[in-house]
Amino acid sequence: MSEPQSVTETKTESEPTTRTDATGAIDIDHLTKIYDPKGEGVVAVDDMDLHIEAEEFVALLGPSGCGKSTVMNCLAGYLEPTEGDVLVDGDQVTGPDPKRGVVFQENRLFPWKTVQENVEFGPQMRDNIEDGRAQSILGEMGLEGFEDAYPSGLSGGMQQRAELARLLANDPDIMLMDEPFSALDALTKEIMQKKLIEVWERDNRTVVFITHDVEEAILLADRVVVMTARPGQVKDVIDVDLDRPRDPEIVTTERFTELRERALSVIREEAQRALEQEESV
Ligand code: ADP
Repeated sequence: MSEPQSVTETKTESEPTTRTDATGAIDIDHLTKIYDPKGEGVVAVDDMDLHIEAEEFVALLGPSGCGKSTVMNCLAGYLEPTEGDVLVDGDQVTGPDPKRGVVFQENRLFPWKTVQENVEFGPQMRDNIEDGRAQSILGEMGLEGFEDAYPSGLSGGMQQRAELARLLANDPDIMLMDEPFSALDALTKEIMQKKLIEVWERDNRTVVFITHDVEEAILLADRVVVMTARPGQVKDVIDVDLDRPRDPEIVTTERFTELRERALSVIREEAQRALEQEESV
């Protein structure tokens, strides 16, 4: 199914969510995660420290297998750290919470529920359905007219928009996004990136965005955290001092090129290390 043409210009009746107190600060404090500690333990993340401000947009960038998803799963509360802590607004993360919404590369929509039922599922579980809210979020995502469709009837881009709508319906303080757009074609990806930034700028949520795409990280984030090859640690933190809004053409500017080169040189070094690790196994 083709993308609706109007998505970037979609007008919506929805009122912006007013979020006055800055919530959603994250502290990753000496985080270590070892898989199968009783056997041949794989140290996925080793003594990682990172502070993320409330309402900040941070990209986690690193070679494949460096522990990005492991960090994300610890932030989401799906995985327990082997050592160290993950704190949100000073409180230890002990399990999943709708205030920390997660989006993966593959959407987690229920295939047997309609788009609207999927979006309403979270609020319904908490007895917190507001009339018209799901439709308004779906409108904002350019999905008017698709409320009664099933996920299988939507294109990949529309499924990820429904996924984003599902997440926003829970009004999360923190959006944890694990390569959410990497399976999309270039144009759909660009539309989704724009949509995400619109939502983030308006609602002041914290975003942690995993990607292995250097340009995507710099285009979207306030800070790019470059991780080492496994075991994952913070190798470099790049402040992205590019003005917003950032048009796609920004990738041709001198400053963007400088930032990309800096990130790439670190990534290359770490990707080489990751390759050597694989070869030595
Ligand atoms: P990334 O997201 O950067 O690709 P992951 O966090 O998925 O990295 O994985 C980090 C390392 O931990 C990899 O070597 C991976 O094989 C290993 N790993 C991930 N999940 C498990 C698991 N459940 N059991 C054992 N090893 C795992």
